Amino acid sequence: MRIVIRICLFTVLSLSCKNEPKTEVLFDSSFAGARLDSVSFKGNDKYIAYINPAFEPVNKSPWFAFGITSGSEKEIEVTLDYGAYKHRYIPKLSPDKKSWEKIEESDIKIDTSLGTATLRLNVSSKKIYVAAQEIESSNDTYSWLDSILILRPFLSKEVAGQTVLKNNNYVLNSNKELNRSVVMIARQHPPEIPGGTIGFKAFYEEMIGDSEIANSFRNEFNIIVFPLLNPDGADMGNWRHNANGTDLNRDWVDFKEPETQAVKSYIETKIKEGTKIEFAIDFHTSYSGPYMLVLDSVNEIKTKKIIPNWIGNIQNNSSFKVEARRRSQELPYCYNYFFNQIGCEAVTYEDGDEVDRDTIRKRAGVYARELMKTLLLTTTSQ
Ligand SMILES: [Zn+2]
Repeated sequence: MRIVIRICLFTVLSLSCKNEPKTEVLFDSSFAGARLDSVSFKGNDKYIAYINPAFEPVNKSPWFAFGITSGSEKEIEVTLDYGAYKHRYIPKLSPDKKSWEKIEESDIKIDTSLGTATLRLNVSSKKIYVAAQEIESSNDTYSWLDSILILRPFLSKEVAGQTVLKNNNYVLNSNKELNRSVVMIARQHPPEIPGGTIGFKAFYEEMIGDSEIANSFRNEFNIIVFPLLNPDGADMGNWRHNANGTDLNRDWVDFKEPETQAVKSYIETKIKEGTKIEFAIDFHTSYSGPYMLVLDSVNEIKTKKIIPNWIGNIQNNSSFKVEARRRSQELPYCYNYFFNQIGCEAVTYEDGDEVDRDTIRKRAGVYARELMKTLLLTTTSQ
């Protein structure tokens, strides 16, 4: 994974590179979260970037992320070629992997029959990053965690288990003395940064914030958070899977993978110690989001109706409309594990690939506030 692709190494380019060393264009896939498999030069400042999934079968989540520098300032064309897969994400550009902007519409041409996208890019000796979404490596998420642990000293972080690549999988608690808990799980699927990272962070920050409702909530509930369930996949630039090639959100019945096992073992130990899990949310992103996956109507009848009350409160108290999609509780999804095995209501929270990031944050804040209010009203300590 950690290679710098120097296009001069490609046979097709050796002559032009020898003749024009100052115009050498370098593609970089050496950083965590990168995904670029190879590059070919087509002449006239045109390149094809080949993007392949790490594992198959895989759904259509063609994540790409790479850097480009050039010995001279110029405009180049880069065609993203996903092989058998089709272009999905509008490319985002960044000078530093921190601030990102969508590529201008006039600088991208999508070929819907080939499934490719051709980008016009200005390159120079200053690297630009091109990625499907804002790059969020495990280090990025953990730096954010470190900053909130300083701001919110009541939070405690511990290791819940190891990943396939023997990295730590972390869990946070807001108050381990309290028996009633809510659980949040984020980023099982690496490319799903809009809902899985941006939305999740805003949701969590609202719950650990200074508002009256957040303070009341934290007096009653412990918030248990798994902030990045698939750090290996995020750093490998995987389209969907963990480092074993498993889609983690299909592993909540079999529990073949250490990442899902870590959550199961942590939560079930907590329950043995007297914790009651009142609600669970699993954060994702879809091309057709925002929406939430909720319980089917037969199962909903058996509940305290936290989910429909929550949705009603969101819609009564904000301008957000909630699209709830019912799914079978037979599916091996995270939220179904919480409903079937833990006995609490649970949802999958999906935001959308290209939804404005401020809207994603605002929605997450409103949903978090309304969930805290709903849980305080719907559940009791006995
Ligand atoms: Zn997902």
